[in-house]
Amino acid sequence: MRRLCSHLLLTPWGLEPRRVVRVSEEGRVVAVEEVPDGAALDSLPGVEFFPGILMPAMLNAHCHLELSGLRGTIPAGCGFEGFVEAMKAAPREGGEAVAKAWDAKMWAEGVGRVWDVCNGTSTFATKVASRIEYHNFIEFFGIGRQPDMSFHTTPHSLYAVDPAAFTRLAEAARGPLSVHFMESAFEVADPAARLVAQTPPEREMILVHNCLVTQRDIDIVMGHFTGPVTWVVCPRSNRHISGLQPPLDLLRRNRLTIRVGTDSLASNDTLSLVDELRLLDAPLAEMLGWVAADRIAPGRTPGIVNLTGVDLRTLTLTENARTKRII
Ligand SMILES: [Zn+2]
Repeated sequence: MRRLCSHLLLTPWGLEPRRVVRVSEEGRVVAVEEVPDGAALDSLPGVEFFPGILMPAMLNAHCHLELSGLRGTIPAGCGFEGFVEAMKAAPREGGEAVAKAWDAKMWAEGVGRVWDVCNGTSTFATKVASRIEYHNFIEFFGIGRQPDMSFHTTPHSLYAVDPAAFTRLAEAARGPLSVHFMESAFEVADPAARLVAQTPPEREMILVHNCLVTQRDIDIVMGHFTGPVTWVVCPRSNRHISGLQPPLDLLRRNRLTIRVGTDSLASNDTLSLVDELRLLDAPLAEMLGWVAADRIAPGRTPGIVNLTGVDLRTLTLTENARTKRII
């Protein structure tokens, strides 16, 4: 049994001060206890103290681990069309060792789950051996070998898949679709109308990027789907490629389900979710809720992560903010 304490604990109700989490050998949360007034947090007997915040392990809601070998090869500011051209020309071989190293880094930083997009099999061995729980979105059928892991097939986007094929994929899907959506103006006309025309309403949707989404698009999408819709933002990737940013306030005002992804290392130089959050402007407890994969509550095994480099007075992330897995 370990007893862990920090300045603040991310609970399902927000950031709470003066809490000790008791965790079993198997990583199960046994109890969350209040620290009596007056007791110094960093010298409680039998309790390990971590400055900053304790939170659950995190979800990276959009990644392409197989592109990790492309880190640093596509210059910033190339624009969306330039990025697409560079990706077509980029080598796809030999990235296995790099992907394995980034998988290990994500685990150490406290990522517990990844919604990862794949077009090939190069990362499967890494993922099968990884302690991170990967959910794979396979963008094409003709992949040859199915992974011995959780996966679904998905169309990449409305612009990369022709309408008939998109509709077939959307209708045949047995799980959520993860679709690159409204990342740039270089896409189809009226993507929201196209999406709802081509996708059954009961389908669970993960919409990725959303930079150009307006209230009208949100109304069209939310008016159509009866299954859950998750709106994923990848601000560092957008900054690298186009300089656009997702309309975070609009998404928040509509009380949409927001998640955060790093996208691939072809358009990012880290797979750190805290680095993504530093570009977003919203209350810290809310943002941490977007990246928490589970919740710290008795009976659950959420993993425990220490976030340091937080200005505890203003509850903002400093330049030095980083996460480290404790459990
Ligand atoms: Zn992507």
